[in-house]
Amino acid sequence: MNFELTQEQRLAVESLKRFAEAEIRPVAERHEDTLIPKDVMHGLLRKLAPFGVGNGWVPTEAGGAGLDLITSGLLYEELFRIAPDVGGTAFINESAAFMVHKLGSPKQKSRYLAGLLAGDLIGCLAISEPGVGSNPRAVTTRATPTDGGYIINGEKLWISNGSISDLAMVVCRTGPDELSFLAVEREAHGYSCRELHKLGLNGWSTAQLSFAEVRVPADSLMGSPGVGLRETLQAFERARCYVALLAIGIARAAYDAAVTYARQREQWGKIIAGHQLVQEMIAEMATELDCARLLAYRGLALLEQGVRCDTQTSMAKWYATEAAVRIASRAIQVHGGYGLTKEFPVERHFRNARMTPIPDGTTEIQKLIIARNILGVSAFGDEAAASHPTARKGA
Ligand SMILES: Cc1cc2nc3c(=O)[nH]c(=O)nc-3n(C[C@H](O)[C@H](O)[C@H](O)COP(=O)(O)OP(=O)(O)OC[C@H]3O[C@@H](n4cnc5c(N)ncnc54)[C@H](O)[C@@H]3O)c2cc1C
Repeated sequence: MNFELTQEQRLAVESLKRFAEAEIRPVAERHEDTLIPKDVMHGLLRKLAPFGVGNGWVPTEAGGAGLDLITSGLLYEELFRIAPDVGGTAFINESAAFMVHKLGSPKQKSRYLAGLLAGDLIGCLAISEPGVGSNPRAVTTRATPTDGGYIINGEKLWISNGSISDLAMVVCRTGPDELSFLAVEREAHGYSCRELHKLGLNGWSTAQLSFAEVRVPADSLMGSPGVGLRETLQAFERARCYVALLAIGIARAAYDAAVTYARQREQWGKIIAGHQLVQEMIAEMATELDCARLLAYRGLALLEQGVRCDTQTSMAKWYATEAAVRIASRAIQVHGGYGLTKEFPVERHFRNARMTPIPDGTTEIQKLIIARNILGVSAFGDEAAASHPTARKGA
């Protein structure tokens, strides 16, 4: 076991950090708590591509940056610390690009892949619906075969990048027991979007997507019919480590603010850093942050090896996201009353952290996956759930 980063990894993170502090943070802070407009986000994504953010998972021979998952994770963690809304948008766009790389036909690849990797196109993954969240097997959006294509009808909810997307990879029911992915273009095929205002991370789009009699050609199908559920579950495995890193980035920002404040604020004739119970809070925050990081990078290392690791990625996701909420809450506590005001950043870090235990499987769902794998008994009341697909590198 080696916890040392390579010289290359350290340099990559350092150069992204310098760039993001100078060029991304000011833009993200200007749009704090409001959606970062599409044209602005395109500009940021284009600037991030040379660092391997938004394109790192796709191999170089296919036009990506071809990073290993640990290096990619380190870069995202840093960006999530500085500008989680921008990092989140890049992560979803990279997920869409990876889906095209993995499942796309030659025609789909030539139409979408280079644009997504460069930040010229913005993609999203549309699985959840108003009545379908924790159980993706229940998707109701239908793609009905018609002459030369499909007609899509249904609603998708909570779709990250939705209202600034050019392209949606939509999970649709193509048969009674069959879920499939279809690539739907916003302009050419036409879906409408409604942006949702949330507790935090409002710079990053989360939207409702409506499909009303949307006609798409037959070659919109991604991969074979029926791969929708398997591909969704595999995408979750990787995404869970990245949502863990999102939580870790936000928690680091809160922790850094608390350490700085504790060294400056004086009460009872000394800085509050000298009070033992403030030290306890800092020690707890630092330790939980390290636990979260160890779990997240172990998950990424296993994904990189291509071995089954849904237990470990679920552990990383639930622990890191719940720890981030506790860490950001303690950061407010260290700040006293000031921590509750908009004058200091920790109330925003807390709101952002509180977003993370829900997407890509709630904390409860992660615990059910872990316990199912330990006990061999599924609490989902669905034995199919026990046969969770094994993650394979590049698969
Ligand atoms: C910010 C954000 C971004 C998102 N981005 C995307 C995206 O890009 N694409 C996409 O498709 N979806 C996205 N989602 C949707 C997300 O994956 C779902 O919100 C999540 O899976 C939970 O579904 P739900 O909100 O419908 O909650 P529900 O499934 O209704 O759950 C409600 C509560 O019941 C609990 N619960 C549910 N089932 C069980 C059970 N079997 N046992 C015990 N407890 C249970 C849950 O843990 C939760 O506490 C996003 C959500 C958010 C908040």
